[in-house]
Amino acid sequence: MSNALRTQTVLTRSEASATSPLLRQGDGALIEQLHAKVEAQAVVIREQEAALAHSRKIFERASAAARIGVWECDLPSETLRWTDVVYDIFDLPRGSALDRREILRCYPEDARKELERVRSRAIDERGSFSLDTEIVTPKGRRRWLRITATVECENDVPMRIFGMKQDITDEKALWERMRYLAEFDVMTGLANRSRFQTRLAELDDRPDAGGAIAALMLVDLDGFKQVNDGHGHVLGDECLKEAARRLAEACRGAELVARIGGDEFAVLLGRRFDRDAVEHLAREVVAAMSRPVVLDGQSLALGASVGVAGAEGRTSADLFAEADAALYAAKAAGRNTYRILGLPD
Ligand code: GH3
Ligand code: MG
Repeated sequence: MSNALRTQTVLTRSEASATSPLLRQGDGALIEQLHAKVEAQAVVIREQEAALAHSRKIFERASAAARIGVWECDLPSETLRWTDVVYDIFDLPRGSALDRREILRCYPEDARKELERVRSRAIDERGSFSLDTEIVTPKGRRRWLRITATVECENDVPMRIFGMKQDITDEKALWERMRYLAEFDVMTGLANRSRFQTRLAELDDRPDAGGAIAALMLVDLDGFKQVNDGHGHVLGDECLKEAARRLAEACRGAELVARIGGDEFAVLLGRRFDRDAVEHLAREVVAAMSRPVVLDGQSLALGASVGVAGAEGRTSADLFAEADAALYAAKAAGRNTYRILGLPD
């Protein structure tokens, strides 16, 4: 209520009696009381408005900082309504008209099907859902979204579906990076020891997965300390990267190629590797590793020994020990060669 209006409407008891001949004795006091009540209520409303505006400001700031927006869809008309953050996530002008069929085009086909599936089920069951999904905005940017939704009914008829959309692209990238670091060797890009051990342990846990592994090949560079001592650690690292690249190239058909130690690598070979194929591969790996590495105009001698063991009837620990024994035998035989144990012809 404006001040001018308030001054106009607040009448004193004597003014009220004077202005209306119809007013009786005591009516002026009543009117004054009523005015006081109205004024008190106006104060409460003003305070509530201020509190609401403050809450809205806090919500908008928090929502923008967390990249969380609110959305709702009127089910009978399929009309969408978004807060600003959702427009920002989709790279669309704030407040522009929304056509649900157009918006669905931002979802890659599989994501769209999954979204429609969980949405329909939530509507049928008058329930809710939560989904992490990818979008490609009209500007061509890929983003990850976390969508939450709840269905609202009137007389048991679904009328509205609403919830939040959060941009989780950064969270997803961090998670992928952590997963990569947990499973891969950063220097060479091969699987790391932990991933290798997990895969090897499947021999014991899951007979079906174990059955897919025919042999384990261990590869250890020969005289690698001399490369480090003679040319320094930096060139040593470059040699390791090149060795990893050659090994991965030679073992393209393997189940897993991993760096499991300083200059030691492990290769899990699947059922398609019979004795002949294993022998052929072992020879190929020795040959590939024995080519000198040319770095900074220098030619560095490289070489590797290879030990292979057959997996049939072995636990993961036995298999590793047998492949290690084969590797030791190859080193003992003068290096730059391979040995195979426990793989029938
Ligand atoms: P062998 O022929 O018996 O295998 O002897 P080797 O000289 O290759 O030595 P060994 O396999 O026993 O030891 C591996 C060496 O690899 C030890 C260390 O100097 C080197 N090394 C281990 N990790 C790294 C690394 O990340 N970078 C570099 N540049 N060198 C490493
Ligand atoms: Mg070595």
